Amino acid sequence: MLESEFTHWLIDHAQWCGWHVTHFRPAMMRSGRWATALQGNAGFPDLVLVHEGIGGGVIFAELKVGRNKLSDKQQVWIDRLQAAGAEAHVWRPSDMWQISHRLKRLDVPKENL
Ligand SMILES: [Mg+2]
Repeated sequence: MLESEFTHWLIDHAQWCGWHVTHFRPAMMRSGRWATALQGNAGFPDLVLVHEGIGGGVIFAELKVGRNKLSDKQQVWIDRLQAAGAEAHVWRPSDMWQISHRLKRLDVPKENL
């Protein structure tokens, strides 16, 4: 599965479950290099999801597929978000069952997310 396919699945599923979602998508530069326009600290998670209902909240999610690993800058964002009390995940296609349960706002123990 490509990260773009995983991203599409997650956004579709989240919206179907009533989440408000945004995805920060990189664009290809004229040089062929991919970059995401930003000001401030790089490495912000791919998705922000918001649901004000019971079992909802604010979720920051960095998506990875295959052997892709977090960059150091992405790890800093995840670590700092979690340290500040936010719900921040690194989600992979192998987590789809847990993701689906979280998005459906079912009661899933945090250690399984
Ligand atoms: Mg990613």
